[in-house]
Amino acid sequence: MKKVLASVAVLCAGVLSPALHASSAQAALPRAAAVPGGVALLPLGAVAADAERPRVWFGEQQVLVTEDTGQWLAVVGLALDTPAGEHELRVQTSGETRRLRFRVDTREYPEQRITIKDSSKVQLSASDLARAEAEFATIQQLKRHWREATDTDMALILPARGRPTGRFGVRRFFNGEPRSPHAGFDIAVPRGATVSADAAGRVLAVDEFFFNGKTIFVDHGNGLISMYCHLDRSSVQAGDTVVKGQQIGEAGMSGRATGPHLHWSVILNGAMVDPELFLSDRSKRR
Ligand SMILES: [Zn+2]
Repeated sequence: MKKVLASVAVLCAGVLSPALHASSAQAALPRAAAVPGGVALLPLGAVAADAERPRVWFGEQQVLVTEDTGQWLAVVGLALDTPAGEHELRVQTSGETRRLRFRVDTREYPEQRITIKDSSKVQLSASDLARAEAEFATIQQLKRHWREATDTDMALILPARGRPTGRFGVRRFFNGEPRSPHAGFDIAVPRGATVSADAAGRVLAVDEFFFNGKTIFVDHGNGLISMYCHLDRSSVQAGDTVVKGQQIGEAGMSGRATGPHLHWSVILNGAMVDPELFLSDRSKRR
């Protein structure tokens, strides 16, 4: 990945005028990690004065494209179940479509084995299972939401002040049975603690789910969406515009939570990705 970026930068320095470089904006980008659960940053070529932003798809999902120092850059979310190996994007520039191949490397996330004495908490009843399955479909739909926006702020801030207690990607086993990996970042906070928007956006949905409890989805535009779960209450509703750092709710332990905490997920082109990739070192110390 680094090699690709470096070679394009060299090429670009020879092709573009210094004036264009000086005037072009530098995007706040997530850290590149072309691994399952990570984000690939793929250069698409120099920004021409009158050309439209390229449109890019990864499978069925449209991909965020940003301008970074005179280059168009695809910012591609890679779901945890993305197989390692060769993948390709579909890139549409001024009516022409081309394929752009890229590589996804392997990543081994740590394991967590939890023993729960009351097995009824692990095995869902038929009615709970039916509810959870219906909600899964709703959540999938929200994750795939696309709203075209001129700009997307990708410099996220931690949405709550507290101790991180569960990192992204951990492979969980309950009583030896594999469960879906942890697709978010947990922050231990007392019930009622302030939960703030990680960046500016529009509230996509506020809903109540079996596993995730009271949940807010904030749409940042161009396929970047954040999700805040197990809330005690929400102070926003669907359609509201929010600014970065604005209080959107209070933390709690609604849904299936063993204690009060905020579960924070970041979604990019429909894929749950590691939220920590979007934090600057400064905001991590919050
Ligand atoms: Zn969590």
